[in-house]
Amino acid sequence: MHLPNTLPFAAAMACLALPFAVHGQPFMSDSAALRQLRTDVYTLADDSMMGRETGTKGEQMAAAYIMDRFRQLGLAPMGDDHTYLNAFRFAALPRTGPDNTLQLGRAKLKAGTDFYPLGYSANAQVLTRVARCRYGIVAPEKGRNDFEGVQLEGRAACMSISSPDGIHPHSAWLAHNDLRTRIDNAVKRGATAVIFYNDDPDKATDPPAEFHMKLQPSSVPVVFLTKSGLAKLGQDGDPVVIHTDIIREEKTGHNVVGFQNNGKPWTVVIGAHYDHLGMGDEGSLYRGEPAIHNGADDNASGVATLLQLAADLRAMPNARNNNYLFIAFSGEEKGLFGSSAWAKHPTLPIDSLNYMINMDMVGRLDSTGHLAINGVGTSPAWAVLATLKAGNLSTKTTEGGIGPSDHTSFYLQGVPAIHFFTGSHDSYHKPADDADKVNYPGMLRVARYIESVITTLNDSTKLTFTKTADKDSTETPRFTVTLGVVPDYMYDGTGLRIDGVTEGKPAAHAGLKAGDVVIRLGEHATPDMMGYMKALGLFKKGDDTKVVFLRDGKQLEAPVHFQ
Ligand SMILES: [Zn+2]
Repeated sequence: MHLPNTLPFAAAMACLALPFAVHGQPFMSDSAALRQLRTDVYTLADDSMMGRETGTKGEQMAAAYIMDRFRQLGLAPMGDDHTYLNAFRFAALPRTGPDNTLQLGRAKLKAGTDFYPLGYSANAQVLTRVARCRYGIVAPEKGRNDFEGVQLEGRAACMSISSPDGIHPHSAWLAHNDLRTRIDNAVKRGATAVIFYNDDPDKATDPPAEFHMKLQPSSVPVVFLTKSGLAKLGQDGDPVVIHTDIIREEKTGHNVVGFQNNGKPWTVVIGAHYDHLGMGDEGSLYRGEPAIHNGADDNASGVATLLQLAADLRAMPNARNNNYLFIAFSGEEKGLFGSSAWAKHPTLPIDSLNYMINMDMVGRLDSTGHLAINGVGTSPAWAVLATLKAGNLSTKTTEGGIGPSDHTSFYLQGVPAIHFFTGSHDSYHKPADDADKVNYPGMLRVARYIESVITTLNDSTKLTFTKTADKDSTETPRFTVTLGVVPDYMYDGTGLRIDGVTEGKPAAHAGLKAGDVVIRLGEHATPDMMGYMKALGLFKKGDDTKVVFLRDGKQLEAPVHFQ
């Protein structure tokens, strides 16, 4: 990959003496396999790995363990620069820095108590004066402009986060309530800072003090006054000194990549993510004091099964018509970062990939033996799945190539890809997802089933890829309409970059393609993912609007009809 390797693993990589893949060794007995599966899951889901959050020490420890296991298994390194590691950069969630200050008139406010910066804030120091502008709403169609008569040039726009009828889904001002829109309104009129407050606590909720998602910052400092801070806000013209400090860091994550070269033209990718939620990253469903999320089922189970497949496939003479690339992905929980980075900058040519098998949460096979297989619409060849009896499982398939795990990144590059999944449970994304709740014989049955898939397809031909009719991944009950795009979660610029377009949905009809960056839906700017979702939430079925987007640096627009 094009990114320089960072150094925490340099020592481990310095003395790689790799044996060539040794074929013809005896197949592991079931009891030995079960022991190894337990060891791998218990090690990866141990408290010492601290939940394996991408970009942390826990991730590095887990990667080191997987590299050791790859080495033992005789896999050749196929990451960056002849190592097992494949680095990718990602934007970490922003954090509030130590240097936020706000002075209103003579009052020095206390950061965190009287005020806090919002995710929309730029980092800046501004000396200015108060300019009150009610809600900061501009709605000519309703005859309202809160900036009328306000001298805003060079001032701090001070406005309530509520609206004339409060904040709720049936508000008449719904299309104007977005804080980002109000900030942009003020900045357009010359404001050099924005100060929000909540003077309507029964009808509006304070914005969160922590940053739960990446917001595209505006060009000015943006702070929120708490109740105690609001009490100190003076009159128009009072002096204001603001200094905002938000830490926006890029971090590095690492996939671990090992190769079994059988000297064949096509390579099968076998993948499973090894990262998890750390002490409760975004995505955690647990509410309480920070706690280690061990992620035994999600997804130490998939990694352990991957390691079992690596051992077994070398001992199976009827599986040698492909090469095998084993990838333990990181960054999955934060938005498929690792698999997306690998699929876009692969360490083996993407055209040489035959198909991809993803295992994410395969550790909770229940007594009925139900195994879900997602993505069977990605190639006609997956029809064989129905005929396989290995593991005595009852399989349930879905067609779509787009889902909430790493196979999606391969599907989007035109690689047939399926995802194995033993189902969700009540410790999903909670600290209770521990190694003692994993069904180890169940994992072995899943491994045997996948091995029979691989041997059945072991005839030297490359699988045909087919596109699937997908559900939009942004489709949630909040939305009555969908555009039908897969957002690029790695994209950090202004707008929403499209990673894939769903067939038969409005975006496809409008001619949008992967790589396009949506910057506006109708009247509503879409500066980031959050802005896009908010804009989308304002449309209903049957609406017509236009989408404005950038393609190769050119601004284009196309009509959109929401079905
Ligand atoms: Zn997960």
